[in-house]
Amino acid sequence: MSARMVLLGPPGAGKGTQAVRISERLSVPAISTGDIFRAHVAGSTELGRRARAYMDKGEYVPDSVTNAMVADRLTEDDAASGFLLDGYPRTAAQVDALDDMLSERGEALDVVVEITADADVVVEITADADAVVERLLGRAAEQGRADDTEPVIRRRLEVYAEATAPLAAIYEGRGLLLRVDGMGGIDEVTDRIMAALAARLSV
Ligand code: AMP
Repeated sequence: MSARMVLLGPPGAGKGTQAVRISERLSVPAISTGDIFRAHVAGSTELGRRARAYMDKGEYVPDSVTNAMVADRLTEDDAASGFLLDGYPRTAAQVDALDDMLSERGEALDVVVEITADADVVVEITADADAVVERLLGRAAEQGRADDTEPVIRRRLEVYAEATAPLAAIYEGRGLLLRVDGMGGIDEVTDRIMAALAARLSV
């Protein structure tokens, strides 16, 4: 069984947590571009130095840099028969780049899961982001993400709304999108995602 998957969802929807759980259950690697960038920043690599300038402002790292990094990661052995991408693609150009990377290997995505936030959270994201910002500041403190300051979080929410929210429609148009309600407890949301995937992938 191959499971080549993308996980979409707004900042603060619990995407990273769910990505790790789903990848364990389906025995495919969870590939988080944010985690890879953070590892490069921590290791003071050239890539980390370049990425940091953007991350510190809440902006996206340029597509060329991000695409090359993902292309490289997908050639590793553990991704040969499946993966769960968390935080990639985030722009329409990244959607195209991912298609190209996969089609060069005769592969394609199987499914895209969008973890949705409820209407209140969407309103918060688009109009008054205070509650989401509070939650993300709490997470930043818990996880030691010292660079997640309030202006940076606000900018990340804006960039998400502009560049990334439209991607769900692209995948929906291809018949790949599964929408899963992200409200509720962590276990509850994992169960919902697994049930939706089971129905789609026969896993
Ligand atoms: P995340 O942990 O997924 O929120 O990512 C943290 C930061 O890494 C983002 O705010 C971006 O600056 C950068 N980043 C992660 N993934 C991408 C991507 N697919 N494209 C561009 N920048 C990214």
